[in-house]
Amino acid sequence: MTRIAIIGSGPSGFYAAQEFFKKEPDGYIDMFERLPTPFGLLRGGVAPDHQQMKTLSKLYDRIASHPNFRFFGHVHVGKDVSIDTIRRHYHAVILAVGAETDRRLGIPGDDCVGSHTATEFVGWYNGHPDYQSRVFNLNASVAVVIGQGNVAVDVVRILAKPVDDLAKTDITDTAISALRQSRITDIYMIGRRGPAQAAFTELELTELGKLAGVTVVVHDDLVLSDADSMEMAASSKVRKNITQLEMFKASSSIKTPQKTIHLMFYSSPTRIHTDANGHITGIQCTKTALMGEAGSQKAILTSETYDIPCGIVFRSIGYRGVPLDGVPFNEATHTIPHKNGHVCDQNGQLFGNVFVTGWIKRGPSGVIGTNRSDSIETVTTCLAALPTLPDPHPLDTPSLLANHRYVSYADWQKLDAYEQSEGIKKGKVRDKVTSAKEAFAVLDNHSHS
Ligand code: NAP
Repeated sequence: MTRIAIIGSGPSGFYAAQEFFKKEPDGYIDMFERLPTPFGLLRGGVAPDHQQMKTLSKLYDRIASHPNFRFFGHVHVGKDVSIDTIRRHYHAVILAVGAETDRRLGIPGDDCVGSHTATEFVGWYNGHPDYQSRVFNLNASVAVVIGQGNVAVDVVRILAKPVDDLAKTDITDTAISALRQSRITDIYMIGRRGPAQAAFTELELTELGKLAGVTVVVHDDLVLSDADSMEMAASSKVRKNITQLEMFKASSSIKTPQKTIHLMFYSSPTRIHTDANGHITGIQCTKTALMGEAGSQKAILTSETYDIPCGIVFRSIGYRGVPLDGVPFNEATHTIPHKNGHVCDQNGQLFGNVFVTGWIKRGPSGVIGTNRSDSIETVTTCLAALPTLPDPHPLDTPSLLANHRYVSYADWQKLDAYEQSEGIKKGKVRDKVTSAKEAFAVLDNHSHS
């Protein structure tokens, strides 16, 4: 029987499992996850006020209900067990570890007090165990979000949305109490290119205009160059974005908004200003001009600068993959090199029984559903390669983890039920467990009750 290991339990991992069972219904899957809970960015990335999207976990539950599926949560492959050990015990290993960290901006003041990555903020309000100790000073009146992707829009929306609406979701209590005390009234979302190149999508942009008590101000004229018009003609996404931006510009804004979202284009952050204690006081932006062909226009700095005084900055310029010990890695793209999902080295030499899917394969782009086709490709490649791969060592997985406490899928289901019942008590969708310690305490209590 074919035994595969999937490392990572986010959407790409679950879609790989789904495809594998579809093609090999009698095969076996062990899924390893660093955190005590499954679902990767579906749980720790998707915004708490996008609960509809999170119902995808029901599909993942169905995949996990296959009798030959096992989940090993709170197992850090590369630390608790080596990737080589895993490789020896399975016919194939599929890496679905996502893009764990963030891109660097690389400007003076980048790391000052009050300058955060969106990754940290999103992880913090979503209950991701890695980010629960982070502190965000929301006392200032102005926040700046750098970047104009959908993650930036999420950050802007969480800062602007009436807190009572957020409190009903699965956002953490810590985040809710910080957001209740927030004094932020103005949120700037800064893009280095123009409206036609903005990475956000219309649905997410439109949502900003629907927030109670919030006005959206577009600070630039929406004049399109010939190259922009060509980009617009070629992309319905661009057309829809421009139409929505024009509506923001035309709409009569709320006279006395509680909060204002400022959309700034052609602005590249070039310095974060700090006081003598290294605390943020503002951000310098340099105006840009676009150069290049339609479809590949780049922002070039001009000599014109302006400052936005602010008390907090969120850098939302994209996620970045990190290498796994002993596995080939492309340092330029921060992805694992592969041929149709089969990991290879920089010379194109296939890397034994290791396969790759999701953001660590193609980079941090696309919506959750994009991972489905990505994982189908990887599993197809993997199954075609199986006859050429050696049989694994027969040792069973739990004995590999003999001295390590892990979370099984049955454990996760207990945690899931616990989170939901705690949520009901507080009038919210769920109250998340935010550390392995808490998860094991809940499970221990559960087994005694
Ligand atoms: P993204 O879509 O790639 O956007 C990154 C943004 O950062 C772009 O505006 C980019 O501008 C800007 N940027 C990059 N480097 C920069 C620099 N050095 N200086 C200034 N700006 C810079 O990334 P993301 O927002 O992290 O989203 C990742 C993926 O998740 C996307 O596919 C996104 O659609 C998806 N997602 C979807 C949803 C949803 O469907 N609701 C929610 C969240 C995320 P340039 O274009 O000029 O490079």
